[in-house]
Amino acid sequence: KTYPSAAKLLLLSTCSSGGVLVYSDSNPLKRTLTADGQETKKKKVVVLGSGWGGYSFLSYLNNPNYDVQVVSPRNFFLFTPLLPSVTNGTVEARSIVEPIRGLMRKKGFEYTEAECVKIDASNKKILCRSKDGASSGVKDTKEFDMDYDVLVIAVGAKPNTFNTPGVEENAHFLKEAEDALKIRQSVINSFERASLPDLTEEERKKILHFVVVGGGPTGVEFSAELHDFLVEDVAKIYPKVQEFTRITLLEAGDHILNMFDKRITAFAEEKFQRDGIDLKTKNMVVGVTADEISTKEIATGKIVSEPYGMVVWSTGIGIRPVIKEFMHQIGQGQRRVLATDEWLRVEGCDSVYALGDTATINQRRVMEDIAAIFSKADKGETGTLNKKEFKSVVKDICQRYPQVELYLKKKKLRNIANLLKSANGDDTEVNIETFKQAFSEVDTQMKNLPATAQVASQQGKYLAKCFNKMEKCEKKPEGPLRFRGEGRHRFQPFRYRHFGSFAPLGGEQTAAELPGDWVSIGHSSQWLWYSVYASKLVSWRTRSLVVSDWVRRFIFGRDSSSI
Ligand code: FAD
Repeated sequence: KTYPSAAKLLLLSTCSSGGVLVYSDSNPLKRTLTADGQETKKKKVVVLGSGWGGYSFLSYLNNPNYDVQVVSPRNFFLFTPLLPSVTNGTVEARSIVEPIRGLMRKKGFEYTEAECVKIDASNKKILCRSKDGASSGVKDTKEFDMDYDVLVIAVGAKPNTFNTPGVEENAHFLKEAEDALKIRQSVINSFERASLPDLTEEERKKILHFVVVGGGPTGVEFSAELHDFLVEDVAKIYPKVQEFTRITLLEAGDHILNMFDKRITAFAEEKFQRDGIDLKTKNMVVGVTADEISTKEIATGKIVSEPYGMVVWSTGIGIRPVIKEFMHQIGQGQRRVLATDEWLRVEGCDSVYALGDTATINQRRVMEDIAAIFSKADKGETGTLNKKEFKSVVKDICQRYPQVELYLKKKKLRNIANLLKSANGDDTEVNIETFKQAFSEVDTQMKNLPATAQVASQQGKYLAKCFNKMEKCEKKPEGPLRFRGEGRHRFQPFRYRHFGSFAPLGGEQTAAELPGDWVSIGHSSQWLWYSVYASKLVSWRTRSLVVSDWVRRFIFGRDSSSI
């Protein structure tokens, strides 16, 4: 219970004292009553990040027993799937951001614009640094501590350059709204510069050579958007220099969009070739200078350098320094990504949760756990399970490990029994060796959950729902039986539901891979893409802005001013 009347009193005194809020432990908004009527301090939940994971967690969190404090250097939520559309003005940057303050006011949470630079898990403290406020006249940054009872880490990731020389200094990234705006300005500036008099043909070609590194969904979508801009707008605005324009897409692997169905990959590659996009697969970038980009042909080892005007780097994500340091502190220094259990608790660290791109559910324990579930179910001396027992074990495993279920579904196996059937031709009685053998295939095939907005937002929602029923589930746990120790887990483990993926390919065509291995490519999927993304935008304000941007683009074309 909270103290509504006390809250009103505080509000009144706040208003009469000139609107200054006093944050102290005596603040009734920060205190609550226990079941036996004792007054106690609310648990302080500190949330790091206002992206997909953080925003979703905050939107669904609804428990008056928490005092929630959000720390993020970005005072808005960014709808990243439409970020490539900002790079050429199809959509305006402001149309895809939602100020965080609105949500804070609605929920009664507090927000601090700062980044966390250190997590001190043993003292339950974080060190924060405010943003450089040069634009507001306050040039220096400010450092301060903040304590927490529960920490939720949702700081996302940073672009990964794989330490390739010259990338940080010379390439553009496409991760934040500012990045997309810089790219937009840079593209327009390139055309203005190439249109200057007295340039040689070679100089114009260099300026208008756009290189995209990375054939994943972001690199492909950006290339497609850029190509659309060249065909639909540049041809009219800069007709004299259009012939010098070239887009090169570099990918180290065999194919672009290699996480998608093969039909989509093939379609995208053919379409890009038809469109004149210079697609170079099996080519790894080894260095970028101010004027040239050097690539190594993987098959021959031959290094080729080419002049360019602009490089956009989109080769995946890496871990943020604050998380790297935290991982060393808690004994996860050898891992590549912060590991959590299936309840999103950071391994080896009580009261800290992590979600989204910054963390991954630990796979190492999966095989151990599967064997433990089997042993627990196996009561006979023969080490076998009958079909009924076996089904319940499989159910338990799939519940605990959504990745196993995903893998099995992808393989079009209704359950593991089919897998075992192919291993020993008999699924009525299963012995532990056959079982382990079958699961070792699952183990090697199982992938980490993808680093997507879909995963991050589902995790945020899941965690908020757990927090909402924390008190209830402490008394009446709802999770599966513990196989290490007694009793049940408080909550069901996190389960990911995949709703499908899109890859916009330009020319009003999109490839869609939907659940059940359903693939659709073309103009109809583009309309599906428009409707899904319009519906997924987090507010009616952003929805109406984005739809009006799309309509504006259809009617008037893209805005080519370089502001
Ligand atoms: P983010 O959304 O990146 O949020 C991280 C937050 O933490 C930010 O608010 C940031 O300011 C804050 N932060 C950073 N450092 C600190 C710190 N030290 N202290 C406190 N706060 C900090 N996914 C899809 O599912 N579909 C798509 O179509 C899609 N398209 C994409 C297109 C682009 C161009 C990009 C870049 C990504 C796309 N993604 C897409 C991936 C998706 O955006 C990410 O997976 C998702 O943003 C991850 O959410 P997150 O909460 O982990 O991190």
